[in-house]
Amino acid sequence: MHRENDSRTEHSSFVTHLECSLTGEQYPADTIQNLSRAGKPLLVRYDLPGIARVLSRDELARRPADLWRYREFLPVRRMADIVSLGEMMTPLVPLPELAARLGGGELLVKDEGRLPTGSFKARGMAMAVSMAKSLGISHMAMPTNGNAGAALAAYASRAGIRSTIFCPDQTPKVNVAEMGAQGAGVYLVNGLIDDCGRIVADGKAQAGWFDASTLKEPYRVEGKKTMGLELAEQLGWDVPDVIFYPTGGGTALIGMWKAFEELEATGFIGSKRPRMVAVQAAGCAPIVRAWESGTDHAERWENAHTMASGIRVPKALGDFLILRALRESGGFAMLSMTVPSATPVTKRRVWPAC
Ligand SMILES: *Cc1c(COP(=O)(O)O)cnc(C)c1O
Repeated sequence: MHRENDSRTEHSSFVTHLECSLTGEQYPADTIQNLSRAGKPLLVRYDLPGIARVLSRDELARRPADLWRYREFLPVRRMADIVSLGEMMTPLVPLPELAARLGGGELLVKDEGRLPTGSFKARGMAMAVSMAKSLGISHMAMPTNGNAGAALAAYASRAGIRSTIFCPDQTPKVNVAEMGAQGAGVYLVNGLIDDCGRIVADGKAQAGWFDASTLKEPYRVEGKKTMGLELAEQLGWDVPDVIFYPTGGGTALIGMWKAFEELEATGFIGSKRPRMVAVQAAGCAPIVRAWESGTDHAERWENAHTMASGIRVPKALGDFLILRALRESGGFAMLSMTVPSATPVTKRRVWPAC
């Protein structure tokens, strides 16, 4: 609720409650939560009419160009709890040559690599760690394919929270080193990310850590949601026709879809929606397979492999939310293009070989 003069809420957050994404069952905000009783992700709900009353496009335009400009749409109640490493607005980079080759239109890439720790995992982790701090959590644990762990390590250290991270042994070495250097306890597991997730779930009770896995806590998706808020604002309060999203756990796809709903409800955008497209690698495409067979949930993808480690997710907890967004938006799921590999040449015959 919006209480201007209440010292507990130095700025306004409009969170009303948490809600099970499957059953709609309600849970109180401002308490430590993981999954719902139905074992599904919890989504944060807001007093949207309240936001519409206090927030305008002009007011937003006056604020610093970072993620916290959308604070009314975010769960953190007190400024003092914000854990930030400088989450800038990321640029939309036009790709005219590629667009022309693909048959025209306008093609933009949202360059999320500019965020702290080098990926958009920073959006989610800035929010999850800020909320963990506000709720008094002192130790967070998580499975990761690399980027999420790097972000957790950095934000948790910044907040003085301990972090313990489990990665598949195929995780890029640079990410593993990054996590360690930024203060996390890091473990390599001879399995995939869901095997790591099981270790975190099993160890939770004994170790007393908080499980920060994708969609097992309610706030990473709120952080990723800012990608949708930002995109709409950068496009002059409009949305693209289509969004292609490299999909692992699907957090930002689910988050962006939620952002557009909240933006429409508060009058920032109209009813137009982008077609949401989930893109996966041929070696790990559970959402594409589920989409093509028309099911609501996705089966685990066995022997998952792809060099794109961020999307090597054989089973996503939010599969039904991803598939629902694809359906409701008139979108679809597809395999990514294969990246051309380099041709090996010998030292002495470079020129003739080219
Ligand atoms: C994590 C990640 C993804 C997938 O994000 P999800 O929210 O898990 O779908 C895609 N690309 C990169 C670089 C990532 O780090």
